[in-house]
Amino acid sequence: MIDEDVLIALLSDLIKIDSVNPSLDSKAHGENEIADFLGMFLQKLGLEVNYQKISEKRKNLIAILKGRGGGKTLMLNAHIDTVSGKGMVTPFNPIIKEGRMYGRGAYDMKGGLVSSIMAVHSIIKSKTKLNGDVILALVIDEEFVSLGTEELLKEYSADSAIICEPTDSNIIIAHKGFAWINIVVRGVAAHGSRPNEGIDAIVKAGKLLVELEKLQETEYQLIVHPLLGSPSIHASTIEGGLGLSTYPDYCNIMIERRTLPKENIEDIKNEMSQLLKKIKSNDNDFNATFDITFFRSGLEISENELIVKLVDKARNQTLGISGFTGESYWMDSALLANAGIPTVVIGPNGKGAHASIEYVEISSVKQIAEILKDVIEKYCM
Ligand SMILES: [Zn+2]
Repeated sequence: MIDEDVLIALLSDLIKIDSVNPSLDSKAHGENEIADFLGMFLQKLGLEVNYQKISEKRKNLIAILKGRGGGKTLMLNAHIDTVSGKGMVTPFNPIIKEGRMYGRGAYDMKGGLVSSIMAVHSIIKSKTKLNGDVILALVIDEEFVSLGTEELLKEYSADSAIICEPTDSNIIIAHKGFAWINIVVRGVAAHGSRPNEGIDAIVKAGKLLVELEKLQETEYQLIVHPLLGSPSIHASTIEGGLGLSTYPDYCNIMIERRTLPKENIEDIKNEMSQLLKKIKSNDNDFNATFDITFFRSGLEISENELIVKLVDKARNQTLGISGFTGESYWMDSALLANAGIPTVVIGPNGKGAHASIEYVEISSVKQIAEILKDVIEKYCM
């Protein structure tokens, strides 16, 4: 049984703690306060509590419910940072209304975080003995570049993992990855009255933009993943130009490419090289180079993995539904999967991740806790 009073009090306490990611807002305090609060809570429950310091304001909390030995280890991973509360009336003042808890991070993802803790809480209170360990990996910085899960993986591993990001009770077994690409188109600066001497880098960049649209509108439409649909590409920023009467000598375009799970960084490099080559073959004055500044691969886990089957079965028992979905956005799950840990994502219902009104449904936080408890008991036996 999940103790609803403890659940509501814990969720409300967590929303009260401002844990805005300091990389997104320089005035933010970071994740130390919430890590300490949770560390105390979990230590009192009898878990072994460890911290990984990442910087002055930031640390991961890794709390382990030790089994008797000989069983499999399951990791429940949740990020403790949130995006900024700007634009919200009272971001850190939790309000309960019609079965919903409102506040920054309620949905993304203090709700799912509380589900994982309450699953462990209920196992301890019911005195169930596990053979394997349960690792609560409560990490920083998922909302920026995932420093937390990267640091976590230097020291910790598990046989499987569940991430409790808000999925509206869907079981996510695939999500897209992404690449950030910086392209510099070079021209030749010249006085605006001398067209024979200048090469207009911005006009040349236009050719690149046209090709991006072709990729998006035609080529990508031929590649369809059953859960994720097609890859995508878009221009994010553009910069260039020296003055009204000058041919611009450069144009810098940053683009984002969302990838399917099978695409790796080499595939993206090849795609970009081919694209620039193609434009160059039709225009000898086109001169551009690119650089992949950041890459995260996508996630795909088989429906036949034990952890996937157990989550599906447990959810069926609690909610009477089954089946799997994919998501277009990226999550820490890909980092865990790349480290060889089969990982699946399931979290509570709600609305307003990163938006000005954010809430999680309290009954759903409880249901996800029940599902997780069931999975832990079977997986860690
Ligand atoms: Zn999240």
